[in-house]
Amino acid sequence: MRTLQLNDGPEVPVLGQGTWCMAEETRRRGAEIAALRAGIDLGMTLIDTAEMYGDGASESLIAEALAGRRSDIFLVSKVLPHHASRQGTIAACEHSLRRLGTDYLDLYLLHWRGNIPLEETLEALQALVRSGKIRRWGVSNFDVDDMEELERLAGSNRPAVNQVLYNLSRRGIEFDLIPWCARRGIAVMAYSPIEQGRLLGHPCLRRIAERHQASAAQIALAWVLRQQGMIAIPKSGKVDHVADNRHALELQLGADDLAELDRAFPPPSKPQPLEMI
Ligand code: NDP
Repeated sequence: MRTLQLNDGPEVPVLGQGTWCMAEETRRRGAEIAALRAGIDLGMTLIDTAEMYGDGASESLIAEALAGRRSDIFLVSKVLPHHASRQGTIAACEHSLRRLGTDYLDLYLLHWRGNIPLEETLEALQALVRSGKIRRWGVSNFDVDDMEELERLAGSNRPAVNQVLYNLSRRGIEFDLIPWCARRGIAVMAYSPIEQGRLLGHPCLRRIAERHQASAAQIALAWVLRQQGMIAIPKSGKVDHVADNRHALELQLGADDLAELDRAFPPPSKPQPLEMI
């Protein structure tokens, strides 16, 4: 598995697993747990969740999938903005830990910006690091102006990650946010890397996939992972899709593939506000 080094040292796999919309239907539970375990066996040991997902149900499902394997996993969860006060962040983290059946998170993110002053959230995140409940912190859905504000508050104590929407059809962050993060060694974690499945029928992706005898999902993921400092967290509740996604790392897109993708999905030529799903 290809890895990336976070700014405080540890190596993490560049391809992880998302879990939004998991644990929503009892009849899919067994398949979702099997998919997560298959991904872990394939080296996709970074698992992303949030207290928001299924109102905690995604975290409980992960606890079941991880049973006995916690130390192999890089576990990421997120605090909702309206919980992100000084006390609220700590309480939310403790609830996540209980549901996840673990006593620490590898990474804890502020899910998006809300009305609680950033300074307060930051103090809580730093207190969680000191108490050992989280190994490191980061943010999600932060645009460049948010990152600049965060930098003014946090100084050299940088977030490890900014988790944002990034895929072929959402390229705005290439103009400013990706280079901004790269200059500071902050990893970008691309969520919805296959646009929740909507990219898969695109004729350009299908054409390139056919040339490589690959799937459209693999092309979309290989494209996101073509650059340094990038982590992708596709979600799949199916073992065969997880295996398909894993093979994206073996795919090498050529200059002609990239040019064709640029024509179908043009890169940004000016700043664009950060998109969110
Ligand atoms: P993705 O782009 O990962 O797409 C998920 C969809 O694609 C599912 O319907 C899945 O179906 C399907 N899929 C996955 N792999 C394949 C494949 N190989 N072939 C065909 N279909 C496939 O969307 P998400 O929005 O789920 O994003 C990924 C993760 O990012 C989330 O689960 C969550 O952890 C995180 N996220 C974070 C956000 C934030 O605000 N910080 C916002 C949104 C997402 P199936 O299960 O049937 O395989």
